[in-house]
Amino acid sequence: MKYYQYEIETASRDEISAIQSERLVKTVRRIYDNVPLYRKRMEDSGVCPDDIKSIEDIEKLPFTSKQDLRDTYPFGMFAVPQSEVVRLHASSGTTGKQIVVGYTQNDLDIWADICARALAAIGATKEDRVQIAYGYGLFTGGLGIHGGSQRLGCATIPISSGNTARQLTVMQDFGVSVLACTPSYGMYLAESAKKEGIDTNKLPLRAGIFGAEPWTEEMRAQIEKSLGIKAYDIYGLTEIMGPGVAYECECQNGMHVNEDHFIIEIIDPETGKHVPDGEKGEIVFSAISKEAFPILRFRTKDIGVITHEKCACGRTFVRMSKPMGRTDDMLIIRGVNVFPSQVETVLLQNGYQPNYQILVDREGLLDTLEVAVEFPPERFTDKVSEISRMEKELANKLKSLLGVAAKVSLVTPGTIERSEGKAKRVVDKRKL
Ligand code: ADP
Ligand code: ZN
Repeated sequence: MKYYQYEIETASRDEISAIQSERLVKTVRRIYDNVPLYRKRMEDSGVCPDDIKSIEDIEKLPFTSKQDLRDTYPFGMFAVPQSEVVRLHASSGTTGKQIVVGYTQNDLDIWADICARALAAIGATKEDRVQIAYGYGLFTGGLGIHGGSQRLGCATIPISSGNTARQLTVMQDFGVSVLACTPSYGMYLAESAKKEGIDTNKLPLRAGIFGAEPWTEEMRAQIEKSLGIKAYDIYGLTEIMGPGVAYECECQNGMHVNEDHFIIEIIDPETGKHVPDGEKGEIVFSAISKEAFPILRFRTKDIGVITHEKCACGRTFVRMSKPMGRTDDMLIIRGVNVFPSQVETVLLQNGYQPNYQILVDREGLLDTLEVAVEFPPERFTDKVSEISRMEKELANKLKSLLGVAAKVSLVTPGTIERSEGKAKRVVDKRKL
């Protein structure tokens, strides 16, 4: 097992709690003094900084929402003078108006550390060559992992996303051993390699670190098989830091939250109260060591589960499950909750590739759900009876897992748009 910062990554629960308490108390005070929105929120809910003595008191603090960040756009949540800010990033705006975040040099150092922990946890060392095919730019993915890879001493290849032919050339010529990109782009690279007759199993490529969008265990299995690598998960969000908030270890059984810098809570989205370990709820994060953009109790809208059970890797940081999606992504079809990830599971379990799109519409008063998915290349046919048999078979499988009927349309391989960043899986015409 490899670690980047062994001591903190394996600290006892008491040690972690003590660090969290100390940093939370300091952050609350700093935020209260420097960010008008927080001061007002705290005053409105009748808490003052002195009420927060340890992490036990965290539930006394008000939540922060994405809307708060939009309302204070661009710099209203910054807690340091502009002269201290050395980097700005913005969320990719998947769900509406973008928000902007800032970093001091110290924030960037911490970010590099947590991404270095993530890379070390998947077995990367300074002997590795890391191809960073996450987008560079305002999106945090590229530069975030970049900082960690360089910090760990890996040969860092800042290729950014896109230009798939060049990605494959670099992968071969440079002897890339670790790939970093979104899972959907990872799948696309695998598919393109196959088309070009490149056998990635024969390349030095041995691991990938994939995140920035939801992906299922079935997708992991496909990526591992088609690229001949181990595929690891990494989680993060712009508002809290970027990639590296939580990272998977070699056990591939949940992501360790970097608890010395972030406090995770799982709440019932209706009541705002904590739910116990093992129970699903909305993930809430506080960033307790950031200087430029500290944030308390941010409601991520991601749905997840945490466990404090011991991990075989020896790390003691709490683990969060792969988030199954955002509450925003959850579709309500004729009253039934449907997550795109459930559709993905059914497709991949039945021999389809993760090239699909979910179309939602309304006919009269009735919601309609349609899943367009490509034929698996080896099962491609133009025989109408066979097509309709396959469509029906898949529709039945979807119905039994989702609990709601879906129409299936099989389409020609290669016709669903491939993604170089975050895949757009859902078109909800009800909202257009
Ligand atoms: P945007 O909110 O505009 O998409 P971000 O790039 O900050 O901008 O996206 C962060 C979000 O991406 C998270 O809140 C989560 O929904 C999703 N995400 C990031 N990493 C993962 C992951 N490993 N698994 C599932 N979802 C993820
Ligand atoms: Zn572990």
